[in-house]
Amino acid sequence: MMSPSTTPRPVAANSVWPRLEPLLPQVTKPIQYVGGELGAVVKDWDAATVRWALMYPDAYEVGLPNQGVQILYEVLNELPDTLAERTYAVWPDLEKLMRAHGVPQFTVDAHRPVRDFDLFGVSFATELGYTNLLTAIDLAGIPLLAADRTDDDPVIVAGGHAAFNPEPIADFVDAAVLGDGEEAVLEITAIVRDWKAEGRPGGRDELLLRLARTESVYVPRFYDVDYLPDGRIQRVVPNRADVPFRVHKRTTMDLDAWPYPKKPLVPLAETVHERYAVEIFRGCTRGCRFCQAGMITRPVRERSITTVGQMVQQGLEFSGFHEVGLLSLSSADHSEIGDMCSGLAEQYKGTNVSLSLPSTRVDAFNIELAQELSRNGRRTGLTFAPEGGSERIRKVINKMVSKDDLIRTVVTAYTNGWRQVKLYFMCGLPTETDEDVLEIADMAHEVIRAGRAATGSKDIRCTVSIGGFVPKPHTPFQWAAMARPEVIDGRLKLLKQAINADRSLGRAIGFRYHDGEPSLIEGLLSRGDRRVGAVIRKVWENGGRFDGWSEHFSYQRWVEAADEVLPTFGVDLDWYTTREREELEVLPWDHLDSGLDKDWLWQDWQDSLSEYEQDDCRWTPCFDCGVCPAMDTEIQIGPTGRKLLPLTPVNGLRLPTGAQQ
Ligand code: SF4
Repeated sequence: MMSPSTTPRPVAANSVWPRLEPLLPQVTKPIQYVGGELGAVVKDWDAATVRWALMYPDAYEVGLPNQGVQILYEVLNELPDTLAERTYAVWPDLEKLMRAHGVPQFTVDAHRPVRDFDLFGVSFATELGYTNLLTAIDLAGIPLLAADRTDDDPVIVAGGHAAFNPEPIADFVDAAVLGDGEEAVLEITAIVRDWKAEGRPGGRDELLLRLARTESVYVPRFYDVDYLPDGRIQRVVPNRADVPFRVHKRTTMDLDAWPYPKKPLVPLAETVHERYAVEIFRGCTRGCRFCQAGMITRPVRERSITTVGQMVQQGLEFSGFHEVGLLSLSSADHSEIGDMCSGLAEQYKGTNVSLSLPSTRVDAFNIELAQELSRNGRRTGLTFAPEGGSERIRKVINKMVSKDDLIRTVVTAYTNGWRQVKLYFMCGLPTETDEDVLEIADMAHEVIRAGRAATGSKDIRCTVSIGGFVPKPHTPFQWAAMARPEVIDGRLKLLKQAINADRSLGRAIGFRYHDGEPSLIEGLLSRGDRRVGAVIRKVWENGGRFDGWSEHFSYQRWVEAADEVLPTFGVDLDWYTTREREELEVLPWDHLDSGLDKDWLWQDWQDSLSEYEQDDCRWTPCFDCGVCPAMDTEIQIGPTGRKLLPLTPVNGLRLPTGAQQ
C-alpha cells in the first residue's frame, strides 16, 4: 500500500479541518477522517458549477472500498465543472465531540461541510444504514425532513439496491435513483447545472420537478399514498400532473464504455477489502428467488475480456494493490471466465499479485478457476453457497444444486490441496421446516467424511455459515412471511446440536450464524412503507447508530420504537414482517419499476411453493420476466472473440504526484 504524501495539503477556504483536527486525538482511528488517499481528488470549489457530496453510510473501513461510490466519485470528478467529495459515517465518539464543538458533517477530501454542496448522494447496500443517514443529515445541519428544507440545503439523493424501495426513508430524502448510477449522475448533474445557470427558477421545487420528469428519478413528495382501513396501501398516485405514474430503473448497457474505477482509492486506514476490484459483469439470470441483487440488475451485461485485462493492469499500476477481485453476482458464469483467469494468471505469474473470484457456484469448474488463479502460490478461500439444506428447500429457492454435486465439488477442493472450505446457507426461508435446516448437519458431516476418505487426512475442515433470510422487494419472495426470531434461533440451536452429535466429525466443522433479530428488523425496513419512517426516526432519536454492526444493534430499541409508533397507524411489527401478502395487495414499491413483470414474479412465487425450478435464461429461451422488453435491453454475453493478452501499456497511467488534482 502506498503511504500518503508528507507535503501538507492546502486547507480549503470552507474547510472545517482547523476545528476538526484538535478533536481527532480524542477518538478511535482518527486516520479514517483525514483523507488524502491515493486516488482522492480535491478540486477548486469556486471553479465547480455542480458539487456533490457522496456518502456510503457506514464507517470508513466499510465505506471506502464500496465500488458504487468509487465509480460515481471518479465519473463526476472527470467532469471539468463538477466536483465530488466523499463522506462516511462518523463513529459515536466523534459524533459526540462534533456536536459539543459545533463541527458539522464533513467530507474527508477537503473537509468541507456537507451542507455547502448542491447534492448529497447516499448509496445504500443495506437498509440497516438508515439511522446513519439521519445522523449525517442532522450533523450536517440539514433539516431531517425533506419538507422542511430550503433552497440553501443540498438535494439528498438515495441510490444503491435499497433505493428500489425508498419508502421508509421517503420523508428524509428528496429523491431516489433506481438502477445503475454512471449515467444517472451525469443526467442529474446536467439538470442542476442548467437550473443554476438559469438563476434557479422556481427554487427547490422546480429543480425536483425537473429531476422527476426524467422518469428515472423518484421524488417522493410528488406522490401521495392512500391507505385502506386495514392498514394496507390503497394506491400511490402522483399529486401533480407532470410527473410519471411509474419511475423506471436506469440500465447501463455497455460496461466497456464505463471502465471504472480507473484510479481506485487506496485506503489510509484498515478497511474490509484492500484490493483492486473489477466488476466482470452486471446482472444475473440464475433466478435465485431470494436474491434481490440478481433480480433488479437484470439483464446480464458482460464486460469484455479485453477491458477486464486493461482495467486490472491500470488499476494495479495506479494503486500498488497486490490483490485483484473479479467480482459479479456469479463470476464463474462469465462466458470467457476460463480465458480470463488463465490470461491473468499468466500475466501476473512470478509477481506478488494474487487473484480471486467470489466462488459461489457449486461445481468443479469453480475449483479449476480457483486453481488457475492460485498459480502464484497464494490460495484464496473457497466458498460455496448451496443456500438451502435440503433438496426440497433448494427447489423452493431455485438454487439447483444436488447434495451429490456439493459433496463431489468440496471433495475435489480437498484433493486439490484446499484444507478448508466455507459453506453458506440461509435460515428462515419460505416453507422451511426444522428438517430442512437439520439436513445442513448431514451435508457437513458427509463433506468431512468424504473429504477424509479421499485425502486420507484428518486435516480438513469446513465452516458452515448461516445468514437469516430477509424477503426483499422486486423478488418472488416479496409476498412471503418471515419466520419469527425465536423460530430461527430454535432451528439454529438444533442444527448446532446435530453438527456436534458426532464429536469426531463435529470437531472439523466450524459454525457461524447470525441470530434472527437483526434479520427481522431488516425485513421491516426492506418491505416497509412511509409509516416506517417514524420508527427509524424514533430509533435514531433513542440512540440508534450503526445498526449493521452487532455490537451497536439493539433489537430492543427497534421493538420499542415499533410498538410506540406503528399502532397509531393501526399496524405493527408483525404486520410488516411475519405477514404473508396476497396477490392483489398494493406493495409500497409497485410504482417503482425494476423492469420485472409483477405477474411473472407472482407466478414464480407460486412455482416456488410448488417446488418448481426455473432455468437460467442465459442458456435457455427467455421465460418472460419482463425486464428486456420493459427496459428496451437485452442479454449481452460473449464470447467476444477478443483476447485478454497481449496488453499494451496504457498511456497516462503513472501519475507523478499521486492523485491530488
Ligand atoms: S426478459 Fe427474458 S431474456 Fe430478458 S432477463 Fe427476463 S427472462 Fe431473461
